[in-house]
Amino acid sequence: MELSCHTLIVGAGITGLTIARELLARGTEDIVIIEKENSLGAHASGRNSGVLHAGIYYSPGTYKAKFCVEGNRLMKEYCLDHELTLNQTGKVIVTDDSRVDSLYELKKRADQSGAESTIIDRNKLLEFEPYAVPSEKALYSPNTAVFNPKQILASIKQELADSGKVKFIFGTVYKRLKGSSLAITNDGNIKFEKFINAAGSFADKVAHSFGVGYEYKVLPFKGTYKKLVKSRDYMVRGNIYPVPDLRNPFLGVHFTRGYDGCVYIGPTAIPAFGREEYGLLDDLSWETISILGRDALLFFTNDAFRTAAMGETKKYFKTYMYSEARKLVPELKIEDIEDTPKVGIRPQLVDWKNKKLVMDFIILKDGDSLHILNAISPAFTCSMAFAKHVVNEL
Ligand SMILES: Cc1cc2nc3c(=O)[nH]c(=O)nc-3n(C[C@H](O)[C@H](O)[C@H](O)COP(=O)(O)OP(=O)(O)OC[C@H]3O[C@@H](n4cnc5c(N)ncnc54)[C@H](O)[C@@H]3O)c2cc1C
Repeated sequence: MELSCHTLIVGAGITGLTIARELLARGTEDIVIIEKENSLGAHASGRNSGVLHAGIYYSPGTYKAKFCVEGNRLMKEYCLDHELTLNQTGKVIVTDDSRVDSLYELKKRADQSGAESTIIDRNKLLEFEPYAVPSEKALYSPNTAVFNPKQILASIKQELADSGKVKFIFGTVYKRLKGSSLAITNDGNIKFEKFINAAGSFADKVAHSFGVGYEYKVLPFKGTYKKLVKSRDYMVRGNIYPVPDLRNPFLGVHFTRGYDGCVYIGPTAIPAFGREEYGLLDDLSWETISILGRDALLFFTNDAFRTAAMGETKKYFKTYMYSEARKLVPELKIEDIEDTPKVGIRPQLVDWKNKKLVMDFIILKDGDSLHILNAISPAFTCSMAFAKHVVNEL
């Protein structure tokens, strides 16, 4: 293969697709998207919880805070216009008395981001979720909704392909850069004028091939799910979440009624051995050794990571997951929970200079290339609004 194009995008996840859509809307013709897999949604974009977040959690001034509310609105509009699945279930965040302060901190963050939310009392909470722990106070988010990720990916892909201006090449892996404008793939070379790195869990490696972002490396975390048995899933109507530890980018074990009607519990955020280790130990490579080294280093140098790693690893055990989940729905019995094959990897970026988990998305621009790192949750929700910003940057 020898090709040339105006804009080359690496990665056909939601980040790459929405950026292509935005470029197209602004008149860019001749876009090529390469994707190493043979189908859409093989990684994070097809393996997430499918929750359209409402912008409650994020620190003011971050990309997450800026784009979640608008991203939620744009994605809802897209689903409604294209008649895609959208369950507008809302969500409650519950807490015991010891963390009511954090609930008010969430409310403050939501207000600062322009996210609609209300502190509700026990009676109101039980109206929304009759089986939720009857906490004195809870936070209600009316704009949280649930979508079908693969359906959205397929719809955007079709729209792009139909334009005749976007070419998809599946099963093609970006390997390295030659000169300043030639991408070497496993299947030939592609000359480009602009380059966008939307490679998800490999975005750090792609950026390094351009000589940028050496201080960042991905540390993978595994998100597994359990679900409620059908006969007991009446206990959850929409979404029941705990107040999370705001020092970490994970939201804690929660209940979500998915687009398929099943009630999922999770996801976990357990340190994983590989960037695509979906099964137990099925992506072992030389990198596993350095991932373990990075885990160990953070474990000893970063308090928040240590607390999260210890708490999360226990979630491999059903009894522990059950004890966490029961804090949200006290009537839950251990036999109400069953395993699922649903699993995703969260490619969490670490800033190795400061030995910290990176909390926000990162955009690195270098000449005609732009690299999106740490597109972790809620990047699916933010994607359409974030894409506008990325294209402005480009
Ligand atoms: C368990 C879990 C639950 C989540 N829940 C939610 C949620 O409820 N709501 C929400 O908004 N977000 C959620 N997220 C986050 C969201 O799914 C991701 O932030 C988002 O999908 C990232 O999209 P992406 O396009 O950047 O990455 P990806 O979907 O990983 O896409 C990147 C693509 O690049 C390809 N690629 C990589 N390297 C190369 C290469 N060298 N050459 C060619 N192609 C390459 C990959 O194959 C992949 O298809 C969740 C994530 C996980 C893991």
